[in-house]
This record gives sequence, structure tokens and C-alpha cells, in this order.
Amino acid sequence: MKPIIWWLRQDLRLADNPALSAAVDAGAPVVPLYIYDDAHMGAASKWWLHHSLKNLDVPVVTRAGDALEVLQDVIKETGAAGVYWNRVYEPGAIARDTNVKKTLKDAGIDAQSFKGNVLIEPMDIKQYKVFTPYYKAVLNIESAIGAPLKTPKATWHKAKSEDLSLLPTIKWDTAFYDHWTPGEHGAHERAQYFIHDLMRHYKTGRDVPSIDATSRLSAHLHFGEISTRNLWHMAAPHTGHEPFQRELAWREFSIQLLFHNPKLATIPIQEKFNDFPWVKDKKHLDAWQRGMTGFPIVDAGMRQLWQTGWMHNRVRMIVGSFLVKHLLQPWVDGEKWFWDTLVDADLANNAASWQWIAGCGADAAPYFRVFNPILQGEKFDPQGKYVRQFVPELAHVPDKYIHKPWESGLKLNYPAPVVDHAAGRQRALEAFAKMKNNKA
Ligand SMILES: Cc1cc2nc3c(=O)[nH]c(=O)nc-3n(C[C@H](O)[C@H](O)[C@H](O)COP(=O)(O)OP(=O)(O)OC[C@H]3O[C@@H](n4cnc5c(N)ncnc54)[C@H](O)[C@@H]3O)c2cc1C
Repeated sequence: MKPIIWWLRQDLRLADNPALSAAVDAGAPVVPLYIYDDAHMGAASKWWLHHSLKNLDVPVVTRAGDALEVLQDVIKETGAAGVYWNRVYEPGAIARDTNVKKTLKDAGIDAQSFKGNVLIEPMDIKQYKVFTPYYKAVLNIESAIGAPLKTPKATWHKAKSEDLSLLPTIKWDTAFYDHWTPGEHGAHERAQYFIHDLMRHYKTGRDVPSIDATSRLSAHLHFGEISTRNLWHMAAPHTGHEPFQRELAWREFSIQLLFHNPKLATIPIQEKFNDFPWVKDKKHLDAWQRGMTGFPIVDAGMRQLWQTGWMHNRVRMIVGSFLVKHLLQPWVDGEKWFWDTLVDADLANNAASWQWIAGCGADAAPYFRVFNPILQGEKFDPQGKYVRQFVPELAHVPDKYIHKPWESGLKLNYPAPVVDHAAGRQRALEAFAKMKNNKA
């Protein structure tokens, strides 16, 4: 029987993989093919992808280049009769896949795509701009999520592989190895640990960055090493599942926002923000990227990101707000830095979250609400455990001053604040008023 190509994309797993299961059900040997065609993938994501592919229990055929051309080559080389894949919902990918499907079908190839990466596909639910009604609608059609599929017993068909050279040439990723186990096994291990040991405290612990209280599954989910559907069902019988499932739905909400707003990554949803008076300042952007702003919670977050490829959600909100409000830097500059440095960099989640932070998104926090980095630090990291971990220069500062070390009177090898909080806040509010007046 002629083989079928299983085109892996954001579904680097064998369990609950509808495209793979369909290929196996057809009785055909399977060519597991990954095509690296994303010139814009961030450095941290490439690191993850390298290990995820390597750790999959399948001899994945890897190739680089234009997806359609590679598929046509592999069809020729293997005599494959079909190409099956799970759908993704990013605008570039939709355009690519539509063209691939049509061209292959016209050539008599059995080209099929499946729902494999989401709970509910964006085209199967009405468009929502606000999360809460969206989530209610998801719960109303929960049965449409369906049951996860078992790992099928496939017969693999070999083909020539290319080295994708995804690892960095300059070594900056050493610490990543202590924090992450990319791949399907790593995803399931972490999911089991989270659900059985941590999830019951998720609701109360998820805002405290010094403790291991969240799932840390975001990169595993982005690369599809575990399906959202599987995770949804795995969590369901256990205490604490509701707030966790709600976050999985936030992920879906971002996906549907991107689906309906293809320019989400670059253009504000609220048009009035097109003329926002940002003040581009390389020195400020640099200080933020390097974790040298003089605000301990901001610097701890930015250093956590650089060292581990991940940052706690509460701190993502604080550093994001600080960049766009206190420093008046364009939100797309923050989005780009996250894109390159996060192991979980995700077009939909990153763009939707940055728009939310900047106040220009669909369901955004109002622009005039400016996070106070000192109070946020005192509230969510009262003894400065998180700060001390990532900003060792402040290890011996008393708790009382840990979030405002400039008041401690100590001689520290740590920068003075790049802006005064009150002045920064005032400048942000004035910029917002100016934008509103321009529109009036
Ligand atoms: C400025 C900013 C940028 C962000 N960029 C990304 C990104 O590129 N990729 C990404 O996956 N998440 C992003 N997030 C959302 C969120 O911070 C991460 O998903 C979360 O911190 C990942 O940690 P976790 O897996 O432990 O999350 P958990 O709290 O365990 O949540 C479980 C899963 O739900 C999803 N999720 C959680 N919070 C959100 C949220 N606010 N929006 C959408 N989905 C969510 C994630 O898939 C996550 O893995 C961003 C948030 C902010 C404020």
C-alpha cells in the first residue's frame, strides 16, 4: 500500500493526534514529516523545537523549505498517496494550507486536514470580543470538544532527512536544560505532576511567582506535545480543574481573536491606538530587555525570561505594563522581544496579551490602569523571594525595601530606577489624553 505523509506542525505528539490516527486507520505506512518553513521563529522556540522533534518516539523526517515544494518532493520520493495534517489558525498558515490542499488535490493526492490543536475550532463558534461570554459559549458546547484518541500503532515509512540547525551557535541556552524537558513524554510527565500535586492550589497560588504553582505547560501546548483536549479531560475529575480549564479557554480565545483579526500581531484592535504617541527610546528598551530598570520585580521577570525562556504570567503583566506605560515604548517592541526569548512564544497568545496589556485589545484592561511595580511586587512577592532568586545583587536587602531598594540607604551594585514611578504614570496618562484629544 502507498504511504501517507503525516505532516507534523504544532502537533508534535502521537497521542490524540487525529491526522496520524486517520493515516493509520487507512491502513497505510506513515511518513512522519516536519517541514521547517518558518523564517521568523524565535531563538528560544527553535531550541525547544529541536529537542521536541528529537524526543518524539518516531523517526521524524525533517526538511527545510517551502512547504508545498517539500511535500511535492517527498511525495515523489516515497510514492505517497496522501498528506494528512492537523489544522492551525494563524493567518500565514491558513493561506499556505489552503494553497497546499488545493494544489495536492488537483494533482490527485488525498489531502486532508483535521481538528487536532484546539478544543473548539474558531470557525465553529460565533466571534466574541469579550472573554466571559466566549467561555460560557464554550462550556455550552463542551460536548463538541470530543474524547481524546489513543496512540495508534503505526508502521513508519522512511525518507531522507535534513539537519535543521535549530540550536544556537553562541551558547546562551545552557540553563534551559535544567528547566525543561521538551517532547511528548516531558509534556505528559509535567501534566500528571501538575494535575495530581499542584492543581488543587492553582487558584490561590497562580499569582505568586516564587512558587511552582502553575502548569508550565505553555510551550508543550504551543508545540502540541499534549493536546488541549487531552489536558482538559485529564484535569476534569480533579480538584481545582475549573480555574485551570478557564486558562485553557483563554488560549482558545486568543486563537479566535487572531483568526478574526489576522493583523493582531501588528495592528491595534482599537483603531484609536494607531496614533498613540509612543516615545521610542533604545536606552529604555535595552534596560528593560536586560533586566536593568531599577525596579526589582520588573528586572527579576526579565532575567527569568532570559535565563529560562519563560516568565510567570503575573510578572509578564507587570513587565509589559511597565514597558508600554512607564517607558512609553511601543507594545510591538515588547512583543518582538518575547517572541525571540520565550520557549512558549505563540503568535495568538503573545499578540492578544500584548494588546491587552497596552489597552488596545478587544477585551483590554483600560489604558489608564497603570500597574504600580512597587505595590505589585509587595503584593505578590512580599518577602522578595522571587526577586532575590533572579536579582542576586539584592539578596541582602531587607524585605521592607526589597521592591524599592533606593530607599534602603544601602550601597548596592544595582541601577537606580530608569523613571520615577509617579512621573512615569503621569506621562502615560498624558499620552493617553493626547491620543483621545487627537481623535476628538
Ligand atoms: C505580555 C504577555 C505575553 C504572553 N505571551 C504568551 C505567549 O507567547 N505564549 C503563551 O502560551 N502565553 C503567553 N502569555 C500568557 C501566559 O502568561 C502564559 O500562557 C502562561 O504564563 C504560561 O504558563 P503556564 O503554562 O504555567 O500557565 P497556566 O497558568 O498553567 O495556564 C495553563 C495554560 O493556559 C494558557 N494560558 C494561561 N494564561 C493565559 C493567558 N493569559 N492567555 C492565553 N492563554 C493562557 C497557556 O496555554 C497555559 O499553558 C502571555 C501573557 C502576557 C501578559
